[in-house]
Amino acid sequence: MKAYERLIAYTAFPTASDETKETCPSTPAQLVFADALVKEMKALGIADATRNGLGFVYGTLEATAPYRETLAFLAHMDVVDTVPYENIRTALIENYDGGEVLLADGTSRLSPADFPFLAGYKGETLLVTDGTTLLGADDKAGVAEIMTMAETLLAHPEIPHGKIRICFTPDEEIGSGILHIDVKELAADAAYTVDGGAFGEVDYETFNASSAHVAFRGKSIHPGSAKDRMINAARVAMEFDSMIPEAQRPEHTEGRDGFYHLIGMEGEIENAALDYILRDHDLGILKSREETLSRITDFLNAKYGEGAVTLTVKESYRNMSEKILPAFYLVERAYDAIREAGGEPSSPPVRGGTDGSRLSFMGVPCPNLGTGSHNHHGKLEFAVVEEMDKCVAQLIGIARRFVER
Ligand SMILES: [Zn+2]
Repeated sequence: MKAYERLIAYTAFPTASDETKETCPSTPAQLVFADALVKEMKALGIADATRNGLGFVYGTLEATAPYRETLAFLAHMDVVDTVPYENIRTALIENYDGGEVLLADGTSRLSPADFPFLAGYKGETLLVTDGTTLLGADDKAGVAEIMTMAETLLAHPEIPHGKIRICFTPDEEIGSGILHIDVKELAADAAYTVDGGAFGEVDYETFNASSAHVAFRGKSIHPGSAKDRMINAARVAMEFDSMIPEAQRPEHTEGRDGFYHLIGMEGEIENAALDYILRDHDLGILKSREETLSRITDFLNAKYGEGAVTLTVKESYRNMSEKILPAFYLVERAYDAIREAGGEPSSPPVRGGTDGSRLSFMGVPCPNLGTGSHNHHGKLEFAVVEEMDKCVAQLIGIARRFVER
């Protein structure tokens, strides 16, 4: 079975995660999909395939050659719930002509004017939606490719590889699933998440991330007699935000430029609150952003009285390059496997985090690989059949490089 055929089959599972739920997995649909994957793994011959109580699916490909390290491949089962994700109707655009594609809803257009990288897939086969839902290639393309790799390796025991652990995870899109992973259960020395965009991408540099909650306490006085006495918490909050450098907002940054991002606000006279996320690839610069918020807090407390503003900063995740650079052979093996599969490796800095960044800090260094799909989290999401095949070849190529020489 080809990887894209699996992806099409998996789109039938509406596995959106839900950040308002405290359980793991956050939605029962993920368990249904997890159980279907276990069944499929067992049918392929992965005897120990299992799903634990938190929804994590595990299975082992036994080694066919001497090896030193156990390697794991991970992909996540959930999709975002911010775009319609049910009743996904896919279509294959064969021998793509490099031009605009009108999707089946009659209005949505996949155009090289909006997405210049489309031109690179001329002559290949695009797997698209009807324009009304996401595709869910993020990350069911990754699940499909790992499963297809397993099928290939099991059918060809002459291909040398070490012990391989397969792990399908819940709740990546809401950031909480990977926090529940038991690294002892994963039982791997090194890993790759298969959860990126274009084939050829090997991500090992993510943002450093913090969140900041700023609480404002005001003083309500009848507005008729408020002169020199009222402190309007909502207005102090606006003053706080106005002191953050305007150019360092996500809507004005790209590449390696980090940002302050206001993600929530509420306020009236007595109380107000602002929520920010802070991001930067450079930890020092991230810390200086935290410092800037702290100085603004001090300034406003001096102006309005101690306790008017309270800042709480929390660490979210750290740039995984700190953990990957000492294990750079993981990136080099991926690069070699990509070239062998006919691709050109690249490592753009990720403007976000990955499950692998968290796993890397749990002691299992874990770069992220492309899946041959694009426009994630949107109705114009698509995968490229031939690129997905190359991603499977890449996984097999990596597996072959984890044997003793
Ligand atoms: Zn993903």
